[in-house]
Amino acid sequence: MLISQFENLKIELPVNSILYKKINEELTRKKVTLVAVSKKKSAQEIIELYNLGQKKFGENYVQELIEKQEQLPKDIHWHFIGHLQSNKVKYIAPFVSLIQSVDSKKILIEIDKQAKKNNRIIDCLLQVHIAEEETKFGFDENELQELFATNSTDNTNFENICIKGLMGMASFTHDREKIKKEFLLLKKLFDKYASFTIRNSQFTTLSMGMSSDYEMAIEEGSNMVRIGSLLFGERH
Ligand SMILES: *Cc1c(COP(=O)(O)O)cnc(C)c1O
Repeated sequence: MLISQFENLKIELPVNSILYKKINEELTRKKVTLVAVSKKKSAQEIIELYNLGQKKFGENYVQELIEKQEQLPKDIHWHFIGHLQSNKVKYIAPFVSLIQSVDSKKILIEIDKQAKKNNRIIDCLLQVHIAEEETKFGFDENELQELFATNSTDNTNFENICIKGLMGMASFTHDREKIKKEFLLLKKLFDKYASFTIRNSQFTTLSMGMSSDYEMAIEEGSNMVRIGSLLFGERH
């Protein structure tokens, strides 16, 4: 196993560059996009991965993201992956590359508005609630259905949003079968809505899989993974 093989290096280095290269090689071969999740990690640690060629980073908190964005190279593609409050959209709208965690129509409307103000189109993923835990955000199956069904008839245009696909997080459990079932459900929904269009949408991205389950997620059809602790070490 990769992880145990590099366990001692993981302790010596802040960023595991050997493991990064291995994972990056594997994902490139499988045509899966790697988003390095850098929440709670320093600008210095991000730069270490950046210098190895990583350009896409995921952050969960608005304040942390804007501070890092100011300090770090401008060709970094910042993905927002945490729960986003309406009143904070304006701070990230000028530069965010992909908002992966759109979990309500309300937030979609606000992103559209702020994107318009910045004269840009913001790429988004709809977050789907596939886990058992109540604490995870996202549309459930019915809400997703409703969003796609009503959009053709109501007057919400979303001219400044491009919906690129879906994102989901599996339950926090050791039960691999359960995780697999949740990934299968998300893939099924992705395939179902791939042919639907909300204005400007291009359904091409299925973001599922993290440090502990990304290999399984890829087997179930993921083409974007969000990996944090495996690359940066545990968060404290
Ligand atoms: C923190 C986080 C990740 C990364 O988790 P790791 O287990 O550290 O890889 C991925 N996706 C989301 C939405 C997260 O909040």
